[in-house]
Amino acid sequence: MWDDADNERNVAIVKALIDGESIYDIAAKWRISAALVRPILWDWYDHPRDPKMPDPDDIFHLPLDDNSFRAFRGEGIRTVQQLIDYLENGTLPSGNTMLRFFGKQQRQRTIRILQERGHVVNLKSKTVQYEFLPADLWQECLSYWGDVCAVCGKPAGPNNPLVQDHWIPHFSDQFPGSEPTNIVPLCLMCNSCKNDSEPFRWLVKELGHQRAIYKMADIMAYFKMWFERLGVE
Ligand SMILES: [Zn+2]
Repeated sequence: MWDDADNERNVAIVKALIDGESIYDIAAKWRISAALVRPILWDWYDHPRDPKMPDPDDIFHLPLDDNSFRAFRGEGIRTVQQLIDYLENGTLPSGNTMLRFFGKQQRQRTIRILQERGHVVNLKSKTVQYEFLPADLWQECLSYWGDVCAVCGKPAGPNNPLVQDHWIPHFSDQFPGSEPTNIVPLCLMCNSCKNDSEPFRWLVKELGHQRAIYKMADIMAYFKMWFERLGVE
């Protein structure tokens, strides 16, 4: 259960999420990491309900968060329940496929922008297995996620550093490269556990189906921010 000291803040955060505020606006307002906003909602599912709070099941009938779910809009999906149905119908079999929504030309355009920013980009990065983001871009990635693991929310520890996770793994046919649109900070434990897994299936294994969808949407919103910043359509 939440500490009394956090209760007022957490209730406000849950209500803001239900009202469709973006996790980044909420994180900024309450000065917490964006990665920690969802776990507050999940805590609400896990523990006895405050009678003043809405029923957790109701959230699956609410409109999707504009920020987190806009990537799905092109598919005509407006509610979490529709998204779950869509995923379960098999028309959208994997997280890799979901990321195709961002557009097929992204790679060439991302490369051009990175080159304009003075970075050396290996155009054959699919054959270079362990490239990583340059330090300045990695710092921007860490800042966005508030210096914690994007999935479990843990900060870096002495035996559990934050590492650059290739969200779509190297082995995948759709591996986009070591680019801002494919790198998230994960703690070493999450990164090792994820390994070569298909990302959405790994999230489902870690978090369960419903939470995995939210987390996937948060990570897609992060990539989408980079696509927009890099001018990729
Ligand atoms: Zn982690």
